[in-house]
Amino acid sequence: MIVVMTAGATEEQVKKVEERLRGWGFDVHLSRGVARTILGAVGAQKDPSMAPMLEAMEGVEKVVHILTPYKLAGRQFKQEPTQLRIGEVVVGGPRVVVIAGPCAVESEEQILTTARAVKAAGADMLRGGAFKPRTSPYAFQGLEEEGLKLLAKARAETGLPIVTEVMNPRDVELVAAYADVIQIGARNMQNFTLLREVGRCKRPVLLKRGLAATIEEWLMAAEYILSEGNYEVILCERGIRTYETATRNTLDISAIPVIKHQSHLPIVVDPSHGTGKRQLILPMARAAVAAGADGIMVEVHPTPEKALSDGPQSLSLEEFAEMTAALRPVAVAVGRER
Ligand code: PEP
Ligand code: MN
Repeated sequence: MIVVMTAGATEEQVKKVEERLRGWGFDVHLSRGVARTILGAVGAQKDPSMAPMLEAMEGVEKVVHILTPYKLAGRQFKQEPTQLRIGEVVVGGPRVVVIAGPCAVESEEQILTTARAVKAAGADMLRGGAFKPRTSPYAFQGLEEEGLKLLAKARAETGLPIVTEVMNPRDVELVAAYADVIQIGARNMQNFTLLREVGRCKRPVLLKRGLAATIEEWLMAAEYILSEGNYEVILCERGIRTYETATRNTLDISAIPVIKHQSHLPIVVDPSHGTGKRQLILPMARAAVAAGADGIMVEVHPTPEKALSDGPQSLSLEEFAEMTAALRPVAVAVGRER
């Protein structure tokens, strides 16, 4: 349940409500909006006498029962959209952010060349995998810590914050030491041990939608992270498995307005994994921005035909520059900045 405080409620009154909820065994999560404070009480058994008792307390406006299974990720708990600040970048604000970089970090030259070019073309953040979740155990698995070091070098030179994936709970600390945003890949969306681990760390998390996950399952995965006290979650739609074979996945554009309606969390869209095909990236990126996405994440490689992974869905440096330029009018048309 959530306890909505009155607009003029004092800190003291909020504290008393919080103490009472904790006394009943709830975990309490505070959401301080512009107008009022909301306390989200989760985890303990509810009793019908609790709501009237709370409503009788000073400073309490009302008690609302949350009907959705996700509590902290939902709009009832927090009405205003969440804005995350990552260095100078704000995700979920007026600007449509662009995250770009190779599927995998392959070498110093590859990542530095890409970082410089995407920065010059207006990217806001740099992506690149150091730990790669590959379908085949014989495929390139990533440079691991060496890859993280190269990403840090690219950040030092360009100032771009870095987004990189963690696959294993025991690597969270290591990845968090280098990354500005920790990515949870589609294949790990329901790795609950990993979700809890990133929930306990102090880095924003980019949570990709599972290959066959419903929106509700995806929001429940976000809930795992939020419930551990990490409220900095960015959702990433990356396509889902359907019967269609013309594209690698079916990019679910409707997930954007659904998420916006159900949740306060920002959402970015990955048209590279969403389609698997370079020529489909721009039209789907445009569609995502038009539908209200807070950002786009795309794979970019200096020589896509030589990429060690996902070359067919990687834009060349020139194509990336064309894409960012082409997104601007769409962003402006829907009242966003770019
Ligand atoms: C990635 O973004 O590097 C990736 C592996 O994507 P996904 O988890 O969406 O397949
Ligand atoms: Mn990839």
